[in-house]
Amino acid sequence: MVASGSRDAKPGMKNYDFVVVGAGISGASAAFYLADLGTVLLLETEAVPGYHSTGRSAALFTPNFGPPVVRKLNVAGHDFFVSPPDGFSDRPLLTPRQSLTIARPGEEENLAAVLASSTAQHPIFEITPEEACRLTPIVRRDVIAAAALEPGVTDMDVAAIHQGFLGGFRKKGGVIHISAHVSGLYRESQGWRVEAGGETFHAGFIINAAGAWGDHVAGLAGIAPIGLVAKRRTMIGIETSLPLAETPLVEFAGEEAYFKPDTGRILASPGDETPVPPQDVQPEEWDIAVAADWLQRHTTLDVRRVANSWAGLRTFVSDHAPVVGEEPGHPGFFWLVGQGGYGIMHSPTLGRATAALIETGDLPPDLLVIGLGVDDLGPARLRRAPAQP
Ligand SMILES: Cc1cc2nc3c(=O)[nH]c(=O)nc-3n(C[C@H](O)[C@H](O)[C@H](O)COP(=O)(O)OP(=O)(O)OC[C@H]3O[C@@H](n4cnc5c(N)ncnc54)[C@H](O)[C@@H]3O)c2cc1C
Repeated sequence: MVASGSRDAKPGMKNYDFVVVGAGISGASAAFYLADLGTVLLLETEAVPGYHSTGRSAALFTPNFGPPVVRKLNVAGHDFFVSPPDGFSDRPLLTPRQSLTIARPGEEENLAAVLASSTAQHPIFEITPEEACRLTPIVRRDVIAAAALEPGVTDMDVAAIHQGFLGGFRKKGGVIHISAHVSGLYRESQGWRVEAGGETFHAGFIINAAGAWGDHVAGLAGIAPIGLVAKRRTMIGIETSLPLAETPLVEFAGEEAYFKPDTGRILASPGDETPVPPQDVQPEEWDIAVAADWLQRHTTLDVRRVANSWAGLRTFVSDHAPVVGEEPGHPGFFWLVGQGGYGIMHSPTLGRATAALIETGDLPPDLLVIGLGVDDLGPARLRRAPAQP
């Protein structure tokens, strides 16, 4: 153990080695791994863990997606999802989906960037327009000029992953308080005093896994923001009786919009990225209409009725890589934020990285081997002054 939360505690104050703020997938995974190192309290504002971004994702494992650091983290999580720890879940965490990227006539060159991101472990290869049509019968033939298939894209069972972390955490003796909004964080001579839900706790370490609210939580501790920007993304559902369950995710090269089948539905996103203040975000009529129109123009579906819609926040820092590490000059304040559109995929890896960084000061060996370093993830990279031209 690195530190004990007990030394400054007043009689009657509850002590923990680690207090994790936020019980979305990030906080749940960190709590799961930290429970091997000491006592852990997980605090969540909402009555239901996973109410914000974690419960609103597209549930896709997409290895070849995002900037280079993100791609390394995507791939690093794969083994966990395929072979989770014993007793983690009684359901498979991944199920096959595949991803089909289509280039419209005149846009064939856009496919080159997609094909260039292929790797030996998770290949992407070109297929003919006819093969693409067979794989996804609802896409209009006239919009397919060229296509690429990525077989390694899968669906994730987000609820099973989240519950696996929370259940495993509890089995290790972890404590969770829901409806416990963290409203005060005070540095003491040893560790931190935490005010949440009308109670006071003492902790050796604070793990800030507050998602879009990460900069706000840092502010409670007197720490400067790292520049988190929450971006709204919209999803719509269209009912269909067509047998599409086995068909791939479909996107178009060079744009962010996509659709994928779900039980009895097609889920589509216009790929919107509208910066908004942290909030219980709701879909805007305009974005719903844009998604429906996009689906209407590219498929043979009847998109007259949108069955359901939702929006969620994808929260980024400037380089779009997550922020995992201790704040320089603020011992015991640990960031676990900025997971953007990748936080479900990254959850086992970043939870494990959090525990390793706290225990050893370094990333787990398997992450070092794939070329990731403390500096790639830590907050120090965001604190440096930009180089002068
Ligand atoms: C539309 C959409 C599609 C996505 N698709 C994918 C995908 O296909 N694959 C993928 O891997 N990722 C995807 N993502 C991203 C993924 O959902 C997020 O990266 C991930 O859920 C972030 O988890 P989190 O735990 O960091 O944040 P959250 O789930 O938002 O959890 C943060 C928690 O902190 C709590 N909190 C905040 N402040 C306090 C406080 N003061 N005290 C106590 N608690 C507090 C909040 O209530 C919240 O529950 C998608 C996101 C969206 C919106």
